[in-house]
Formats: sequence, C-alpha cells, structure tokens
Amino acid sequence: MKIGVLAIQGDFDAHKKRLEELGAEVVLVRKPEQLDQIDGLVIPGGESGAFLKILGEQGIAKLKEFVRVKPTFGTCAGAIMLAKEVTNPGQFGLGALDIRVRRNAYGRQIDSSIRTGKLGESPLEMVFIRAPKIERMGPGVEVIATEGNDAVAVRQGKAMAATFHPELSEDDRLHRVFLDLVRDGNGVHG
Ligand code: GLN
Repeated sequence: MKIGVLAIQGDFDAHKKRLEELGAEVVLVRKPEQLDQIDGLVIPGGESGAFLKILGEQGIAKLKEFVRVKPTFGTCAGAIMLAKEVTNPGQFGLGALDIRVRRNAYGRQIDSSIRTGKLGESPLEMVFIRAPKIERMGPGVEVIATEGNDAVAVRQGKAMAATFHPELSEDDRLHRVFLDLVRDGNGVHG
C-alpha cells in the first residue's frame, strides 16, 4: 500500500513518519504525475492558498480527479483544500467533501490550542493551529470526531478531513482510520 503525502509546503514530514510507523510505504508527492503511483493521499496542514498557487492549474486539475477516485485525508489546510466551499477569505475548493469551511475561524487570540475532543465516544487530543471550522455539512457527510459542538473530523465517500493536526499528537487512531479506508475501499471502522 503506497500512500502519498503532498509535500510542496507545510508539515508533511510528521505525516510521513506516522504513516511509516503504521507500516505504510510513503511517497512524498511533489509532481502531479506522482499521483498516478499511489493508493491514497494525505494533504497536510500548511497554507491552503500557497498549496493552490504552487499546484497551479494543471496540478489542481490532476488533484481534483485524484480525490474523486482515490482515498484522500486532508488535515487543517488539507481539509480546506477538500471542501466544496471556503470562506474568510473565499478560495477554490476541490469539492470532495460537501462542507463549507471558514478559515482561521478561532480568531487571533487562540491562534493555536490543544484540546480534548471525542473520536466517536472516546477522548482524543487535538492540536489546532490557525484552524478552520466546518460551518455547513451536506447530508452525505459523516462526523468522525467532535470538539465541543463542532464537527472536527468528517468523511464522505473516499474523502476524509480533520480541522486539527492528528500527526502532531501521539494518538494514531485517525491515521489508522484513513489506512483502513485505503485498504478496504469502504472505510468501515468501529
Ligand atoms: N490557516 C491555514 C489556511 O487557511 C491553515 C492552517 C494549518 O494548516 N495549520 O490554509
């Protein structure tokens, strides 16, 4: 199982390390054609506007096709990339998840924070860094994790996203959920 981590900007190394610890073969994806060689993709945190700029029109088109057919996990800026609608400020979204996200939604005072949310019914440490909030979810979107009243990890079909940084906590359960999704194709998890 080959997992790509988009490695044009942002914190791709922590994802690589985590996925390797879980037994995956990891490819750092720097060129659009590398998407042809992988079974699933992680889009890390970073700056979503910079991702779009660096990818360019051709890269974005290729990525849009990829997320339609192959499992993709976006964290923070990666979650913004996968959304259908993006606000504050508005920008293009790949539309793999029928959600609207508001960028930098926690405001300046709490630029980053570590909180305990819930993965299903069990507690999960969550690192938020200039994080977006999911403001709207379409009917096909399943909530995987919550923090307070907010859905902070969601899934729809082959796409999943977390508004926080699971790669920065020791808990590896969300990465396991993603690898299950790549392995089984249907991502059924308990
Ligand atoms: N604020 C960034 C954005 O809007 C995301 C921050 C992150 O990935 N940690 O793209």
